[in-house]
Amino acid sequence: MTEAIFEIDAYQKDCRAKVVELDSEGIVLDRTVFYPVGGGQPGDTGWLQWADGQRLQLTGTRKREDGEILHLAEADQPWPETGTEVQAILDWDLRYIHMRMHTCMHLLGVVLPHGVTGGNITAKRSRLDFDMEEPVDKDGVNQQLNELIQAGHPVSTIWITGEELAAQPELIRTLSAAPPKDAGRIRLLKISDLDLQPCAGTHVRNTAEIGFASVVKTEKKGRHNRRVHLELAEQE
Ligand SMILES: [Zn+2]
Repeated sequence: MTEAIFEIDAYQKDCRAKVVELDSEGIVLDRTVFYPVGGGQPGDTGWLQWADGQRLQLTGTRKREDGEILHLAEADQPWPETGTEVQAILDWDLRYIHMRMHTCMHLLGVVLPHGVTGGNITAKRSRLDFDMEEPVDKDGVNQQLNELIQAGHPVSTIWITGEELAAQPELIRTLSAAPPKDAGRIRLLKISDLDLQPCAGTHVRNTAEIGFASVVKTEKKGRHNRRVHLELAEQE
């Protein structure tokens, strides 16, 4: 299986890797910094570069059915052959916005402590669906959310086994998605003492890195569903 560097260090922007397999859609590497689409977060884009100065644009990343991470590329471009040593280089500016957005979505779940029934992250705008009946107080949410961001809460990951989680279900304060059963190790995302839940995505190290967030729209999508749309201010 591909070594998933992004699970350990979300800030690594590139890595050396070897091409281990080519299929019709993409390239499998022995290790990668590219996050595959999942949990509402888009798959990473970027480039592969190899010795003779060749560069291939990667249009996305996804997990194949067998769990391998596939780096997607256009078929009409020259691809590196199996066995080639490459440099895998993230489109870091885009990935970093995804990290800020993703972490901000966790904080939105802290401000609105209701079940989360869906969500989607893009660089421009993200949304979360909450299982709640009452209307969302947009101004109140904006104020609380930005207070949490500016407080500079540390963000970390914790690895536990499925048995440990089953023995201590109270570890999970907010459970928006059931952790995978029989997964050997489960990755938990921890934001200070505010949030602890299984999450495989990439996050910033400190909430202050999110900058300024703004709830731009709320919608009623059914009697038990409120949709909240969020944008981030540009950072210098
Ligand atoms: Zn997360």
